[in-house]
Amino acid sequence: MFKWFSFIGLLMVAGLLAGCLPSPVHTGGRLTPLQTLVPQPAFRSAPPVAVHNPWKPDALPRDWRYIVLHHTASSAGSIESVHEAHIGRGWDGIGYHFLIGNGNGMGDGEIQPTFRWREQIHGAHAKSPNNEYNEHGIGICLVGNFEETQPSAAQLSSVKRLVGVLKNEYRLTAGQVIGHRDVKATACPGKNFPIGEISQTAVFSVLAGQPGNYVTGLPSEFQIVTVERSNVR
Ligand SMILES: [Zn+2]
Repeated sequence: MFKWFSFIGLLMVAGLLAGCLPSPVHTGGRLTPLQTLVPQPAFRSAPPVAVHNPWKPDALPRDWRYIVLHHTASSAGSIESVHEAHIGRGWDGIGYHFLIGNGNGMGDGEIQPTFRWREQIHGAHAKSPNNEYNEHGIGICLVGNFEETQPSAAQLSSVKRLVGVLKNEYRLTAGQVIGHRDVKATACPGKNFPIGEISQTAVFSVLAGQPGNYVTGLPSEFQIVTVERSNVR
């Protein structure tokens, strides 16, 4: 028994000498500032790239902080039909800033801005207690019911192009591109709507040497790419 106590005592001395036991002595080394360990936004502070924006309104820009995505939850729709439906709800016209057709009432992938976009006024599409998302959210609605079907390839291409250009123009991050269901209890824009993929769309100048997939409809010197979420803010 005595031998065991001696053995444990020797082990503790050896441990202290080796520095593997807790020591109350401060080493005096400099601590690393926490912020140097946190990745800083890479794209947020970068100036917007010069992308042709066919939707640039004449009115002074509003303080846009979000892009809120919706579906009509119907198989067909147009600016006129949604406008009439929303007036029927007592609103002052179509509540969205953009509507993207599915070939049933509007062209497949056709993007139409509404009076709210042209005049840069608030939306009526994403009610919340403080009305933050109607006041500062660009409402984009795709015709279709994406609880039941998928957006068409043309609609996906168009919404990516629109979101990419708007993100660039208003310095919005992927996290600021949300679905209606992120604001209130609703299925909109439907379980088959790929919000994550769309939110990560960004525009880059080809001249800057960025790789990516060309999406038709942009001037040839520009392209839209979908990049990893960690690289897009
Ligand atoms: Zn909605």
